[in-house]
Amino acid sequence: MQTPTSRFETRAVHAGMDGVRELGSHVPPLDLSTTNPLPSVELGGLSYEELAGGQDLGADRSAVYQRLWQPGVARFESALAELEGAEGAVAFASGMAALSALLIASASAGRPHIVAVRPLYGGTDHVLDTGLLGTEVTWATVHEVAAAIRPETGLVVVETPANPTLELVDLAVLARAAGTVTLLVDNTFATPVLQRPLEHGASLVLHSATKYLGGHGDVMGGVIAGDAEWVGRLRRVRALTGGLLHPFAAYLLHRGLRTLPVRVRAQQATAGELAERLAAHPAVAAVHYPGLPGQDPAGLIGRQQSGPGAIIALDLAGGFSAAQRFVEACELVTHAVSLGGVDSLVQHPASLTHRPVAGEAKPAAGVVRLSIGLEHVDDLADDLLRALDAASFADGDASREPVVLAGARD
Ligand SMILES: *Cc1c(COP(=O)(O)O)cnc(C)c1O
Repeated sequence: MQTPTSRFETRAVHAGMDGVRELGSHVPPLDLSTTNPLPSVELGGLSYEELAGGQDLGADRSAVYQRLWQPGVARFESALAELEGAEGAVAFASGMAALSALLIASASAGRPHIVAVRPLYGGTDHVLDTGLLGTEVTWATVHEVAAAIRPETGLVVVETPANPTLELVDLAVLARAAGTVTLLVDNTFATPVLQRPLEHGASLVLHSATKYLGGHGDVMGGVIAGDAEWVGRLRRVRALTGGLLHPFAAYLLHRGLRTLPVRVRAQQATAGELAERLAAHPAVAAVHYPGLPGQDPAGLIGRQQSGPGAIIALDLAGGFSAAQRFVEACELVTHAVSLGGVDSLVQHPASLTHRPVAGEAKPAAGVVRLSIGLEHVDDLADDLLRALDAASFADGDASREPVVLAGARD
């Protein structure tokens, strides 16, 4: 059994497992019930009212209906909250469902104004920029945040490391600028293994659980961790709007947390080595990776984030056409969106994940993003260096001279 003084790795393995042993089980049972027996009309009604209002399941109550409360989802939520050092967490069908619930909660509480720091995940940027859910965004740099806050500002939104180019934001500085306004940090890239934003002044932490928390590319989910008041508000929005996490997804995500520390550290070690090897290739104009010299000017690695993580962005000297040749030449590394799984992926953000982002905030055309998995570093290096060779030369160019690409699509 874990104790309150257990280390992070121990908690990752045992969090959310309370009561499982008493059930005579080794792992949590997979309960797929959509509805639950009611003890009486009176207690059924009371349970419904409490759960729909955002409260947790009471001792003699019924869970009533899967949209209101689900035991496997609650286990995953309590495990993630424990790893992030939060009072609680609320899980959703995807990262975007989680963000949507938060924006609805803020806007419906009379605080529709959001201050957001770019760069952000493309979907987050898009939902904020379009005001689809009734919010209004002011884009600000870290130093502009304090001045951008208004009486009706409900959230300050930031991502660190940022997607796709891995800039780090000093959360303590941002938390001071946000003052009493809720600071939401998207911690998808770092995971609680490397960074726990609540320890640095954030109020809420968001994950696309689809990425590292699940870790195997086979489950979608989203989760927000924070204090009890926010947890109640988010549960209420979830109960009303129905952006639920499926119990089987919750099961897989909870299982994913148990190996999260070993996966993230092994992937990070490989990424660190690859970042250096790839930087030496002539087709690479720049490698964006916070573990490389000069890429962490504020000294946040070690202070805010324990390591640089396992995502690398390459800026290719040949711009868009080189990026296109590179991703299409990768073989072991799959050309696909998403990140954080056991197998390595590569994608071109400007044409995929960041396609809806406004021109001035779009990643450069030559940037490709790599999510490093658990393959052997030498096999990854072989594949990526060969793809970089392919990216350096135009088709049929017998001279094999690097081509200067000043293409219109850059
Ligand atoms: C993928 C992603 C999201 C969106 O999550 P989904 O689970 O795809 O809805 C949000 N933020 C970041 C940083 C992401 O990588």
